[in-house]
Amino acid sequence: MRQLSNYHTHTAFCDGKDEPEAIVREAIRLGCPELGFSGHSHVPFDDCCMSVEGTERYKAEIRRLKEKYADEIRIYLGVEQDYYGDLPTDDYEYVIGSVHYVEKDGEYLSVDLSRESFLQYVERFYGGDVYAFAEDYYALVARIHEKTRCRIVGHFDLITKFNEDDCIFDTAHPRYRRAALAALDALTDKPVLFEINTGAISRGYRRTPYPAPWILAELRARGAGLILSSDCHRREDLLCALEPWRDLPSVHPTLF
Ligand SMILES: [Zn+2]
Ligand SMILES: [Zn+2]
Repeated sequence: MRQLSNYHTHTAFCDGKDEPEAIVREAIRLGCPELGFSGHSHVPFDDCCMSVEGTERYKAEIRRLKEKYADEIRIYLGVEQDYYGDLPTDDYEYVIGSVHYVEKDGEYLSVDLSRESFLQYVERFYGGDVYAFAEDYYALVARIHEKTRCRIVGHFDLITKFNEDDCIFDTAHPRYRRAALAALDALTDKPVLFEINTGAISRGYRRTPYPAPWILAELRARGAGLILSSDCHRREDLLCALEPWRDLPSVHPTLF
C-alpha cells in the first residue's frame, strides 16, 4: 500500500506547535516517504505568520534537516504564500497559494479567524450580505496562481470554515456557486493541484475536508489534479483524516 506524505506543514516558526525536527521524526516514525514544510508567508498585518527575520531562520533550519535526514526521508522547503504575502518565493521548492484575508475598506478581514469575527465582518463591512464577502473572497482565489505562481491551491473554500451544514449561509445559493465556479474556471487551466485539506477536522471545526463535495465533483469533471493535505499545526495531526482519500482517482501520490 502506498505510504502517505504531507506537504502542508506548519511549525513553531509560524502558528504551528512543534519545532520542525520533531515533525520530521514523526514523519519518519509514520513511514512517510516525503515531508514538505509550508510556513505561513510573511504578511505586513498579521503576526501569526513568519516574521521577516524568522523566514530566513526557517529556510536555514529546513535545509539543515533536509541534509541531516536525507537517508531517511525526502524533505522539501515550501511556503504557504498568502495572497498578500510580501516576500519573494524564489528560494522555495514549491508554493501553496492561499487566500486567508480579504482587503475591504482598508482593512484585512481574516476569513478563518473565528466564527464571531466572520459574522462581525459580514455585518460591518458588507451590511449583512454574506454572499458579497464570498464573492470578494473568490475573486482573490481566482487570482491566486497569477499572484503567487503556486503549485498547490490551498483550501479552496476556506470561507466555509465556520459554515458546516450551511449554518451561516447557503452554499447552494446561486451567487455563492457562481463566485466559486468562476474561481475554479480561472484556476483549472493553470498548472496547479487542488488540496483535499483536512486541517479544520483536526482542529475540531469540521467533519469534512475542504473542498465541499460539489466542488470536488466539479474539479474532477474538469480533470484537475488533487493532493492530500493535513494543513498540520501539531505533529500528532500530520496525517490526520487523509487515509479515506488516499485512493481517490486524480489524487497525486507525490508532489514532484
Ligand atoms: Zn492556510
Ligand atoms: Zn496552512
